[in-house]
Amino acid sequence: MQTPPVLTQHVTRRTLLKTGAGLGAASLLPLSGLSANTLRTQARIVILGGGAAGLAMANRLAQRLQGGTITLVEPRETHHYQPGWTLVASGVWNAAKTMRPNAQFMPRGVEWVRDHTASIDADNKRITLAGGETREYDFLIVATGIQLNYHLIDGMSPELVGQHGIGSVYASIEGATRTHQAIQTWLNSGQGKGIFTAAPTPVKCAGAPLKMTFTTLSRLEATGQREAFEVDYMAPGAGLFSQPWVDAFVKQRFDDQGFNRRHHYRLSAIDPHAKQAEFTFVGPESEFTSHHQLREAEFRRDDQPTVIADYDFIHVVPPMSAHEFVKQSALIAQDGPFRGEWLDVDIHTLQHNRYPEVFGIGDVIGAPINKTAASVKAQAPVVEENLLAVMQGKTPPARHTGYTSCPMITGIGKAMLVEFGYADNFAFMPSFPFIDPTEESWAAWVMKDRMLQPAYYAVLEGQA
Ligand SMILES: Cc1cc2nc3c(=O)[nH]c(=O)nc-3n(C[C@H](O)[C@H](O)[C@H](O)COP(=O)(O)OP(=O)(O)OC[C@H]3O[C@@H](n4cnc5c(N)ncnc54)[C@H](O)[C@@H]3O)c2cc1C
Repeated sequence: MQTPPVLTQHVTRRTLLKTGAGLGAASLLPLSGLSANTLRTQARIVILGGGAAGLAMANRLAQRLQGGTITLVEPRETHHYQPGWTLVASGVWNAAKTMRPNAQFMPRGVEWVRDHTASIDADNKRITLAGGETREYDFLIVATGIQLNYHLIDGMSPELVGQHGIGSVYASIEGATRTHQAIQTWLNSGQGKGIFTAAPTPVKCAGAPLKMTFTTLSRLEATGQREAFEVDYMAPGAGLFSQPWVDAFVKQRFDDQGFNRRHHYRLSAIDPHAKQAEFTFVGPESEFTSHHQLREAEFRRDDQPTVIADYDFIHVVPPMSAHEFVKQSALIAQDGPFRGEWLDVDIHTLQHNRYPEVFGIGDVIGAPINKTAASVKAQAPVVEENLLAVMQGKTPPARHTGYTSCPMITGIGKAMLVEFGYADNFAFMPSFPFIDPTEESWAAWVMKDRMLQPAYYAVLEGQA
């Protein structure tokens, strides 16, 4: 492990107190220009990705560090509130409600580089931008989110969403809007078959495909002709959700509501013009049924049985992974369940397992549960504390519990607030004594519909 190239190098607690560079201790000292709990530094910190996680870290570090440089690489001008996309796709929200200018969240003093990261050279602590420029760093935070691998489904591309009965809430905000239109067209036709799918990889907001299924069912029921519509749910694994109680609940509810539930099938091809989907039977032993390495070559295996299904509407959930430039870097997991696909971090400290000056946060990390904005909220203070500790040559003290939260919409106007973490086989971690995680309620729906968005923006601003 390399010695961190920090500003106040080789500091003991005593010298920290003397210089005022120590965390917490700084607030006790009458030094001008040093606010409470700040660390003086000359370090160069680069944050890759300015979504929920990257902006939260930029704001937190801007508040905690004095001196040094914080660079945030984010190509987009607009921030997307992705948790609103299921509400847009189900017709409850309009798209404009989910967008804000990134500039609104960009902290003063942070250099915003409006470009894509093209590569990471972790051995030389350098990143290269798509424009060709390079940046060196002392500390790196990888927060680039997820790559949507629609190309692993033959015949599928995000441009098809909204046409030929194809929906996909994940594609983009435009995709969510067009998914709403595709569902509406199917409903207006008064009959037919809908197929809802799930991906054979970890996905962001694992509840989103289920939410799309439940909200569509609500709308089918509202037509008064539910029996005219057939609905299938095709799952690549045995489970539908990682939290065991919720998994059992959803399965029971699907059965009660007349869904045809089939397991161990992944969507392998789509013929938009014929409105046909091909599913490959991956089998109960398949590596694809949980967190696993997803290799394109394995996806092209053609020795497995397939079934062809006609549909009038299909909801496509693409396989997901870290972005290509992360996969091609030394930072990608080399072995274990996340190998080749996700960032290799310690799931508790969020420090990289092999490059101690690197941290990961948000959807990009390999962890048994994460990939929600709620996870980002829980991870951000951990990364902040641990990065500042490492900058001072200390062992990372903070630990992420795996906390995540999913307002599981079970119909329009009702939801369950499912909060859980790593411990005790993903046991519930409820935050609100008045909300039972096993009960559907209007209160949980109101939370999703009205309260989560302001809380989310507070996370981005480093306030929560
Ligand atoms: C349909 C849907 C429903 C959801 N529902 C919920 C919910 O109910 N509750 C919940 O908590 N979460 C939900 N989420 C998940 C939540 O939105 C994500 O987990 C969260 O946004 C993750 O934050 P992130 O910063 O890791 O990724 P993102 O917010 O996706 O940000 C990644 C950023 O990296 C940038 N980037 C990408 N490539 C590069 C590059 N090469 N160089 C530089 N920057 C790059 C992108 O432009 C983007 O801004 C939902 C997501 C979706 C899609």
